[in-house]
Amino acid sequence: MAMLGAEGAMAGEGTSIDPICGRRVVEDDAESAEYRQKKYFFCSPGCRGRFERKAELIRVDELARMGALFAAKRATWGVA
Ligand SMILES: [Zn+2]
Repeated sequence: MAMLGAEGAMAGEGTSIDPICGRRVVEDDAESAEYRQKKYFFCSPGCRGRFERKAELIRVDELARMGALFAAKRATWGVA
């Protein structure tokens, strides 16, 4: 069982910053999620859930940008 006994002194090896709430988490005890081949660690399933929803939005955003690129290409073909 993971008690939050890890104080700032333990910072560094094996710890990460929860990108959602900014808390330092011990990777072995943390919730983790992988996004684009990078592993992220979270203090709680709630933060992980929020990240996953955000990642979903980022993906949609990327797809939209890709769509914009294709649209731009189509436009250039029109010109050429
Ligand atoms: Zn958190």
